[in-house]
Amino acid sequence: MARLVQKFGGTSLADIEKIKRVALRVAREVARGHDVAVVVSAMAGATDRLVGWTRETSRLHDAREYDVVVSSGEQVTAGLLALALQNVGVDARSWLGWQIPIRTDDVHGKARIRSIEIAELKRHLSLGQVAVVAGFQGIGPDGQVTTLGRGGSDTSAVALAAALKAERCDIFTDVDGVYTSDPRIVARARKLDKITYEEMLEMASQGAKVLQTRSVEMAMNHRVRVQVLSSFVDAPGTLVVDEDEIVEQQVVSGIAYSRDEAKITVQKVADRPGVAAAIFGPLAASAINVDMIVQNVSEDGLADLTFTVARADLDRAVAVLEEKRATLGFAALKPDSNVVKISVIGVGMRSHAGVAQQMFQTLSEKGINIQVISTSEIKVSVLIAAEYTELALRALHTAYGLDAKE
Ligand code: ADP
Ligand code: ASP
Ligand code: MG
Repeated sequence: MARLVQKFGGTSLADIEKIKRVALRVAREVARGHDVAVVVSAMAGATDRLVGWTRETSRLHDAREYDVVVSSGEQVTAGLLALALQNVGVDARSWLGWQIPIRTDDVHGKARIRSIEIAELKRHLSLGQVAVVAGFQGIGPDGQVTTLGRGGSDTSAVALAAALKAERCDIFTDVDGVYTSDPRIVARARKLDKITYEEMLEMASQGAKVLQTRSVEMAMNHRVRVQVLSSFVDAPGTLVVDEDEIVEQQVVSGIAYSRDEAKITVQKVADRPGVAAAIFGPLAASAINVDMIVQNVSEDGLADLTFTVARADLDRAVAVLEEKRATLGFAALKPDSNVVKISVIGVGMRSHAGVAQQMFQTLSEKGINIQVISTSEIKVSVLIAAEYTELALRALHTAYGLDAKE
């Protein structure tokens, strides 16, 4: 008898009818004789509403109380799904993060799972009871509720699958798998039967929200077999696998985009040793991550330094640098949040030259200016003006031969 973890996202649990359908989907696996742990997200839109309420109440809110509020959406769906399962004759109970417990660090709002004490949950599963676990939440070292960052119930599911040594972790969502690019923007995107952990990790961290980045990291480290599939259509989805399981490797397997970027240009700083350290040091000290960086030498021993930060950090980054204006001695700071980062990803890039060049050529043919570039072994990213997002994604998708046949 296999042990399975099934995770259902917000759209799959958006109303009572849908929750009842999910119960039937779970009941099917139970009828096959499997032990099933289910991880739930909040109803679609619920978490956004809760986040909105905390902001409305207090702009500079206490992150511990933020977690108390935003974790509550999953409590509702966990209880409702347990009820719906009972109604179709399946023994089930709900589990909140602290009841298992799922222990995390103390970084409220973006906590990391440290350990899961699995014995009690396992005992219930072995008695044939379905465990409906509230995703996205855990308990911190101080005994307070924590949340795992937006999209975090994917990570709850993979962590639980690792702890239970589950045969597979099925992530049920509103698309029927991982596509070569976001199917909501690129109509000709193709569903992938398989994708490597590494590529999925890059796709997720470069903006493809279909899986939370940390869930992929965890799946890769613990070798959890993850499948992404539709809650609404009964068909196999995409398996996330090791590289050697992929028979025909494409050079580029996917294209991701992220609107979560903002650009800052520090104009006319002295072009001498120590300047980069003086700029990026204070940002790091304020826990602001810098992603892409480019430096242009201008005249008279001066340079312009352009870099990107998360959009949510833009105001803080500007404030930190303004505070150091006297010591840094720059002429002006130019923030710009009207940008998007587009990334092409593929493990085949390791052995193929020309991938970046094809990207630059394609964008240039569409008249799209590239503002910043960064690369890694298996990806090339560019920053462009936000209004070109759709055009760039579709043009690149065609250029790399990824389009589905009509
Ligand atoms: P859930 O609520 O089930 O967790 P999410 O909204 O977090 O669902 O993730 C699913 C969404 O991810 C899809 O609706 C799709 O728009 C988006 N997405 C972005 N990139 C991709 C991709 N490459 N393949 C599939 N979906 C993608
Ligand atoms: N409900 C949480 C969110 O909206 C967690 C999740 O859906 O994975 O971010
Ligand atoms: Mg999600």
